[in-house]
Amino acid sequence: MTVNFVDLKREYFSIEHEINDAIQKSLNNGNFILGEEVKNFENDFSKYIKSEYAVGVNSGSDALFLALKSLGIDNGDEVITVSHTFISTVDAITRNEAKPVFVDIDPHTCCIDSSKIEEKITPKTRAIMPVHMYGHPADMDPIKEISDKYGLFLIEDACQAHGAEYKGKMAGSIGDMGCFSFYPTKNLGAYGDGGIIVTDNGELAQKLVMLRNYGQIEKNRHEFLGYNSRLDEIQAAILSTKLNYLDKWNEARRNIAQAYNRFLEGSGLIKPLEKDYAKHVYHLYVIKHKNRDFIQKELLKKDIQTQIHYPIPVHLQNAYKNMNPVKLPGTEKVCEEILSLPMHPWMISEEVNEVCNSLNRVISSAGIRNGSIKPHFKI
Ligand SMILES: *Cc1c(COP(=O)(O)O)cnc(C)c1O
Repeated sequence: MTVNFVDLKREYFSIEHEINDAIQKSLNNGNFILGEEVKNFENDFSKYIKSEYAVGVNSGSDALFLALKSLGIDNGDEVITVSHTFISTVDAITRNEAKPVFVDIDPHTCCIDSSKIEEKITPKTRAIMPVHMYGHPADMDPIKEISDKYGLFLIEDACQAHGAEYKGKMAGSIGDMGCFSFYPTKNLGAYGDGGIIVTDNGELAQKLVMLRNYGQIEKNRHEFLGYNSRLDEIQAAILSTKLNYLDKWNEARRNIAQAYNRFLEGSGLIKPLEKDYAKHVYHLYVIKHKNRDFIQKELLKKDIQTQIHYPIPVHLQNAYKNMNPVKLPGTEKVCEEILSLPMHPWMISEEVNEVCNSLNRVISSAGIRNGSIKPHFKI
C-alpha cells in the first residue's frame, strides 16, 4: 500500500459539489478582482482568528513582505527571526532591504528560543518575527514581553498554523500582525496561491489595502509605491467554503497525531511535543532521529512517502551565503534529524497503521528498537 504524504484530490472530492457551486457563483458574478467574495472571506477569516481586520493578498510570502512594508521597515533596519523556517519568512525581510538576524530554536518545539532573543537586539532592531512552526505556536508571552520592553513590532508567521492556539488565543492574533498562507497544502489552502494578513490596527489594515493594490486610495490616485498583490475572487470563494471545515480537519489531524504519538511512545524515535500552552494543529507531524536518512530511505522502499521540513536552514542557503556567518547549533542539529510523516485529514485508519507498521519494521530491523508495539488506529 502506498501512503501519500498529502492528498489534495481526496480533499476536493470530499466537498466537490460545494466547491463547484462556489466557483460557479463567483463566475456568474463576473467580477474577478476585489469584489464581494474577497470582502466576505476577509470578514469570515478575521472573525475566525478574532482579529479586527483581515487583508487578503496573493500569497503568504507577500503577506509577510507587505506586513513589514506597512510598518516602514527598510534599509538599515534589523528584524529578528529564525533560520529554521521556510525561506520566504526571511525573504520578506531581505526583500524590504532590512537585515535578518537569526535566533536559534528550542529544539523541542522547533520554534524560536525566546531566551536567546534579547542578546540579539541592537539599536537597529525594529521587529521580531516568530514562526509557529509545523502548526505549534511559539512561546508568545516572553516574546511579547521583549517586544514591548524594547518597543519592537511583533509579526507572527502563522503560515503553518491556521487554527492553532496559544493559551487560548488564536495564533496570528497575538502580535501586531499575523500572516497566513493559503498555499494548497496548508491546513487551509486555496486551489492556487493566496495569503492574508490579520491585525487589530485599522491604520495598518488601510495601508495594507493600498499596498496590495498599487498604493491606490481611489481610482487613479496613488499615495505611495504599491504592488499588485491581491487575493482573487475565485480563490476567496473557495477559501470561504473550506474555512467552514477547518476546525473539523484540524481535529482529524490531531487524532492522527495522537495515534502516531501512542505508537512512538518508547520507540526510540522522538515524537513532536505539544506544550501545555499550545494547541498544535499538526500542519506537519515531525519526528526526530539521528538515523533520519536511513529511516526515510527504508520507508520509501515500503512506499511510505515522507519529507523534510527543512533540510538546509536559511543561513546556510546559497542565497544567504553573503551574510555574516552565524552559528545556530540547535537549528543545524535539528535539520539533520527531522522527518515529516504522512499527515492530512483524509488519511484512513489503514494508512495510519501502515505508516506505523512500516516504521516499526524499519526501526526493529535497524536495532533502534527491539520489542514491537502493534499499532491499532481506528478513526
Ligand atoms: C508556506 C509558508 C510561507 C509562504 O507562503 P506562500 O503562500 O507559499 O508564499 C511562509 N512561511 C512559512 C513558515 C510557510 O510555511
